[in-house]
Amino acid sequence: MKKGLCILGATGSIGISTLDVVARHPEHYRVVALTAQHNINLLYQQCLQFYPDYAVVVDKDKALILQQRFADIGCKTQVLAGAEALAQVASLPEIDTVMAAIVGAAGLLPTLSAAKAGKTILLANKEALVMSGDIFMHAVSESGALLLPIDSEHNAIFQCMPSGYSSGQRSPEVRRILLTASGGPFRQTPLDQLVTVTPEQAVAHPKWEMGRKISVDSATMMNKGLEVIEACLLFSLPTEMIQVVIHPQSIIHSMVDYTDGSVLAQMGNPDMRTPIAYALAYPQRFESGVTPLDIFAVKQMDFEPPNLDRFPCLRLAYQAVKAGGIMPTVLNAANEIAVEAFLQRRIRFTDIARIIETSLTQFSAQAADSLEVVLQINQQARIAAEQLIVSL
Ligand code: NAD
Ligand code: MG
Repeated sequence: MKKGLCILGATGSIGISTLDVVARHPEHYRVVALTAQHNINLLYQQCLQFYPDYAVVVDKDKALILQQRFADIGCKTQVLAGAEALAQVASLPEIDTVMAAIVGAAGLLPTLSAAKAGKTILLANKEALVMSGDIFMHAVSESGALLLPIDSEHNAIFQCMPSGYSSGQRSPEVRRILLTASGGPFRQTPLDQLVTVTPEQAVAHPKWEMGRKISVDSATMMNKGLEVIEACLLFSLPTEMIQVVIHPQSIIHSMVDYTDGSVLAQMGNPDMRTPIAYALAYPQRFESGVTPLDIFAVKQMDFEPPNLDRFPCLRLAYQAVKAGGIMPTVLNAANEIAVEAFLQRRIRFTDIARIIETSLTQFSAQAADSLEVVLQINQQARIAAEQLIVSL
């Protein structure tokens, strides 16, 4: 029996890699729905290759254009328009598996919709989890959804967990997690030069090819900050049990340190098709198209602790997760706004951390005990960060 697949964010870096893997296994998956924000040219091509039942386009004008193009060629894919349609397709009964690969907070409602509907969720969209925390994990456990991490580090950790492990469980035999980070493009840039780095330099990641937002997050190391929060939630661990390790070669994708002294690592070439194929084939394995690791070409593997003076965003993420409640929501929202402003050249690279830091001080501690609170704080924090940008 083929499984029905929905890809939220099909036109992005993760979406494209997912379809690359799916195309290798037509006997395992049927693509039921593909979604995009506005890139209808790519979505059109993807639909002609995979013939999904539904194509969702958030931009309503673009949706109309796509619909017309399908009508012109007699393509039966039904086009749905607007953000509401994302949550709708993510919970369709004919869908078994949802790849959550929208970037940022926009992915929360559709991913949550998949969680509530008890789907198998392949989670790339870390922002959705970071901003909603326990609410998301609760929705997963309530519905019996299967949550498989796609973020390479969390996928590596998941693979190194005891057999039969499920996301959200606390594993008592785990002493700590070693969460690896490449250190991004500015690991060795003199600190006084960070103020003048450009968006082009920031998105040029040394090891991974990714969307622009996560590439900037990797340069500030907010990506690792979000991943620490993601790991706390996925593996039910306090921050003290998660050690960030800079490993510039990106061959080891993270490690689990057990109480008996064993340290298990997952290795491979840095290519997102490995964690994607792992999750699509779970609990089996299948071919991903990734070049096999040439172990003799790996001359050296280095490991060093992160420097929080160089990467203040990582410090802010620790601060937010320790404060708990709504603070990770504020952190994520302020970061999304600041990164976008940096990409638009409205602020400098080093302003990203300043804006997030000030945003965090503008909110007082409050429990994030409902989706309404999370959505409201997300909105308020975005407005607050935007005001800080304007007043810089
Ligand atoms: P991307 O920018 O390449 O793609 C984003 C996708 O989301 C696109 O399909 C776009 O149409 C869609 N999208 C953007 N804004 C939207 C909106 N407002 N509403 C609906 N759809 C919207 O991003 P990416 O690199 O593929 O990353 C996607 C997610 O996966 C992010 O959360 C990222 O942190 C995570 N992730 C990515 C990688 C990677 O290697 N790219 C690795 C680990 C985790
Ligand atoms: Mg990662």
